[in-house]
Amino acid sequence: MSSFEMSVGNAEIVALTDMNCAFPTPLPELWPNVPCDAWEPFRKMFPDTFEGERMRIEIGCYLVRSQGKTILIDTGYGPGPIDYIGGLRGELMAELASKSVDLADVDTVFLSHLHIDHVGWNTREENGKRVPAFPNARYVVHQDDIDHFSRPDVQAAGRYPFYDELVQPLADLDVLDGLTSDANLTDEVRAIHTPGHTPGHMSVMVSSGGERAMIQGDVLIHPAQVTELEWTPIFDGDPETAIKTRRKMLNQLEVDGTTVVSCHFTKPGFGRIVRTDGKRYWQVGD
Ligand SMILES: [Zn+2]
Repeated sequence: MSSFEMSVGNAEIVALTDMNCAFPTPLPELWPNVPCDAWEPFRKMFPDTFEGERMRIEIGCYLVRSQGKTILIDTGYGPGPIDYIGGLRGELMAELASKSVDLADVDTVFLSHLHIDHVGWNTREENGKRVPAFPNARYVVHQDDIDHFSRPDVQAAGRYPFYDELVQPLADLDVLDGLTSDANLTDEVRAIHTPGHTPGHMSVMVSSGGERAMIQGDVLIHPAQVTELEWTPIFDGDPETAIKTRRKMLNQLEVDGTTVVSCHFTKPGFGRIVRTDGKRYWQVGD
């Protein structure tokens, strides 16, 4: 198994890259409640996650294979070019092809939430219409995110109004399922509501053969937040709820020793929560 793949009992998680980018907004604007010098210890611990005064992030997606089902978690930024990150283009489709994954083999596209960097490859254009990029998949997301991001005022306030192109066509073709509670995607794969980053944000717990891994989505977007859980990026829609969710999740993951999978940390984003001198830290490795 390569370092980009991990087994969880009988299930398997494969890390995929859509892109890796230095986010253009400088750290003090991206993290308004974090003083610049507070980053210093984390610059030494996680040098790949900084580029000068900017944060370097992975735009990761994951393939989960469980009980004969193929589940894609998130679809990245999409084909681009994405103007506000230097015209970069996503590579998810090439990644899937390099791993011999046929788009028709994906049974479920699970969207942790409806931010643009998680839904970019949902649809493609065919004869002037938007059609699902994964032709046999059900697309699954929490209903609260559908309700929130379908609002015209929310779309208008974003950098790029993506809903009509990347989400609404799925609803129109009746392949979009809105969850209103935690739900099993297979007997081994459970979607869990972890709100705050967005109203309907969900994480995915993979449990099989006595092993567990949590694909946490954007509850944590930088490894420093494992230590400083009150550090809040501007992307957290409801910071107070996001902090509560981080606290609850980190408490549980530390006690259980569960492997944590983090799509915006340096690829493959596999790690654990460890404690040193009374503080929690992110430790790379599954
Ligand atoms: Zn994200």
